[in-house]
Amino acid sequence: MADQYDIIIVGGGPAGLTAGIYAGRAGKRVAILERELIGGQITYTNSIDNFPAAPGISGFEYAMRLQQQAESFGAKVLMRNVTEIVPPETAGAPFRVLTARGEYEATAVILATGLSHRRMGIEGEDALISRGISFCAVCDGAFFRKADVAVYGGGNTALEDAIFLSGLCNKVTIIHRRDRFRGEQQLVDELKSKENVEFAMQKTVSAVHGDKILRSITIKDTVTGEETDLPISGLFVAIGQIPNGGIFRAIAETDERGYYLADERCETMTPGLFVAGDGRSKEIQQLTTAVSDGAVAATKACKYVDRMNGNEYV
Ligand SMILES: Cc1cc2nc3c(=O)[nH]c(=O)nc-3n(C[C@H](O)[C@H](O)[C@H](O)COP(=O)(O)OP(=O)(O)OC[C@H]3O[C@@H](n4cnc5c(N)ncnc54)[C@H](O)[C@@H]3O)c2cc1C
Repeated sequence: MADQYDIIIVGGGPAGLTAGIYAGRAGKRVAILERELIGGQITYTNSIDNFPAAPGISGFEYAMRLQQQAESFGAKVLMRNVTEIVPPETAGAPFRVLTARGEYEATAVILATGLSHRRMGIEGEDALISRGISFCAVCDGAFFRKADVAVYGGGNTALEDAIFLSGLCNKVTIIHRRDRFRGEQQLVDELKSKENVEFAMQKTVSAVHGDKILRSITIKDTVTGEETDLPISGLFVAIGQIPNGGIFRAIAETDERGYYLADERCETMTPGLFVAGDGRSKEIQQLTTAVSDGAVAATKACKYVDRMNGNEYV
């Protein structure tokens, strides 16, 4: 027989763990299923400077504390990749949550599946993440004060990252595979006015070098195929983000990019199914907004469970 819970949370990032705190504290039987890394994206940063009342905490430490807090209220954290969710056919029956390592049942489900940064797909890249390769200039830029860095990408995020880094770093090279940027002209103009910014247009990053920390990259000309080495200590990759919720779009509607379509009430078209965090279509994707969603989704899910059980939530 499948293990049964009041609420199953898919994703053990900040949104999912916060949902676990709220639902556990409300006395619900809760499981948080995480496929990869407890803490989600935030574990990639060395220092969080903007989370209220916890300046300078490392992403890893923050994630550990969140996990401990959720577990202290009874939430069970399990390493599982959720492959499918089958909604109930009749009101009050449980959702079936399918994973490669078994099946679970729950009255309500919260999808807190977040985002994955699009990676370059280059050998050695994963080992250098947080050791010179970063996906967040605002978070990690300060570690590269007065250093030579590069930004890879051509959209608004890459342009904004390069502008931000130009104020901190010695030299910023922006690398883009096309001959013109996808981002706003105003940002392009601002970037062009910076004296310490160089442009490597029609170039891709073809290799990264360094054993413990990033030392240099190879960039390849998309027209001539010529390769050159660029010594840098920081590479900020801004080639897009991919929401992880696509596989659940039959039960939780998404926009064309794959973000769950739900407002700040975190409800989906499926009764008893809620969404939370960066995977939800919204303006600001940060810790504060992710944990806020986790609190809202868990509170809603608790109310739903109580309603299904014939109780009122107070
Ligand atoms: C390098 C970096 C630095 C950052 N620094 C800051 C900062 O300083 N301040 C700040 O406010 N924000 C920062 N952010 C943003 C912040 O990390 C995110 O806003 C936050 O992590 C979003 O939380 P989340 O729980 O919604 O999603 P995520 O953190 O993306 O977590 C989602 C989790 O769900 C899991 N998952 C997905 N699909 C499944 C599945 N099918 N089955 C099981 N598990 C699944 C994933 O493995 C992941 O662990 C940073 C992000 C990055 C990448």
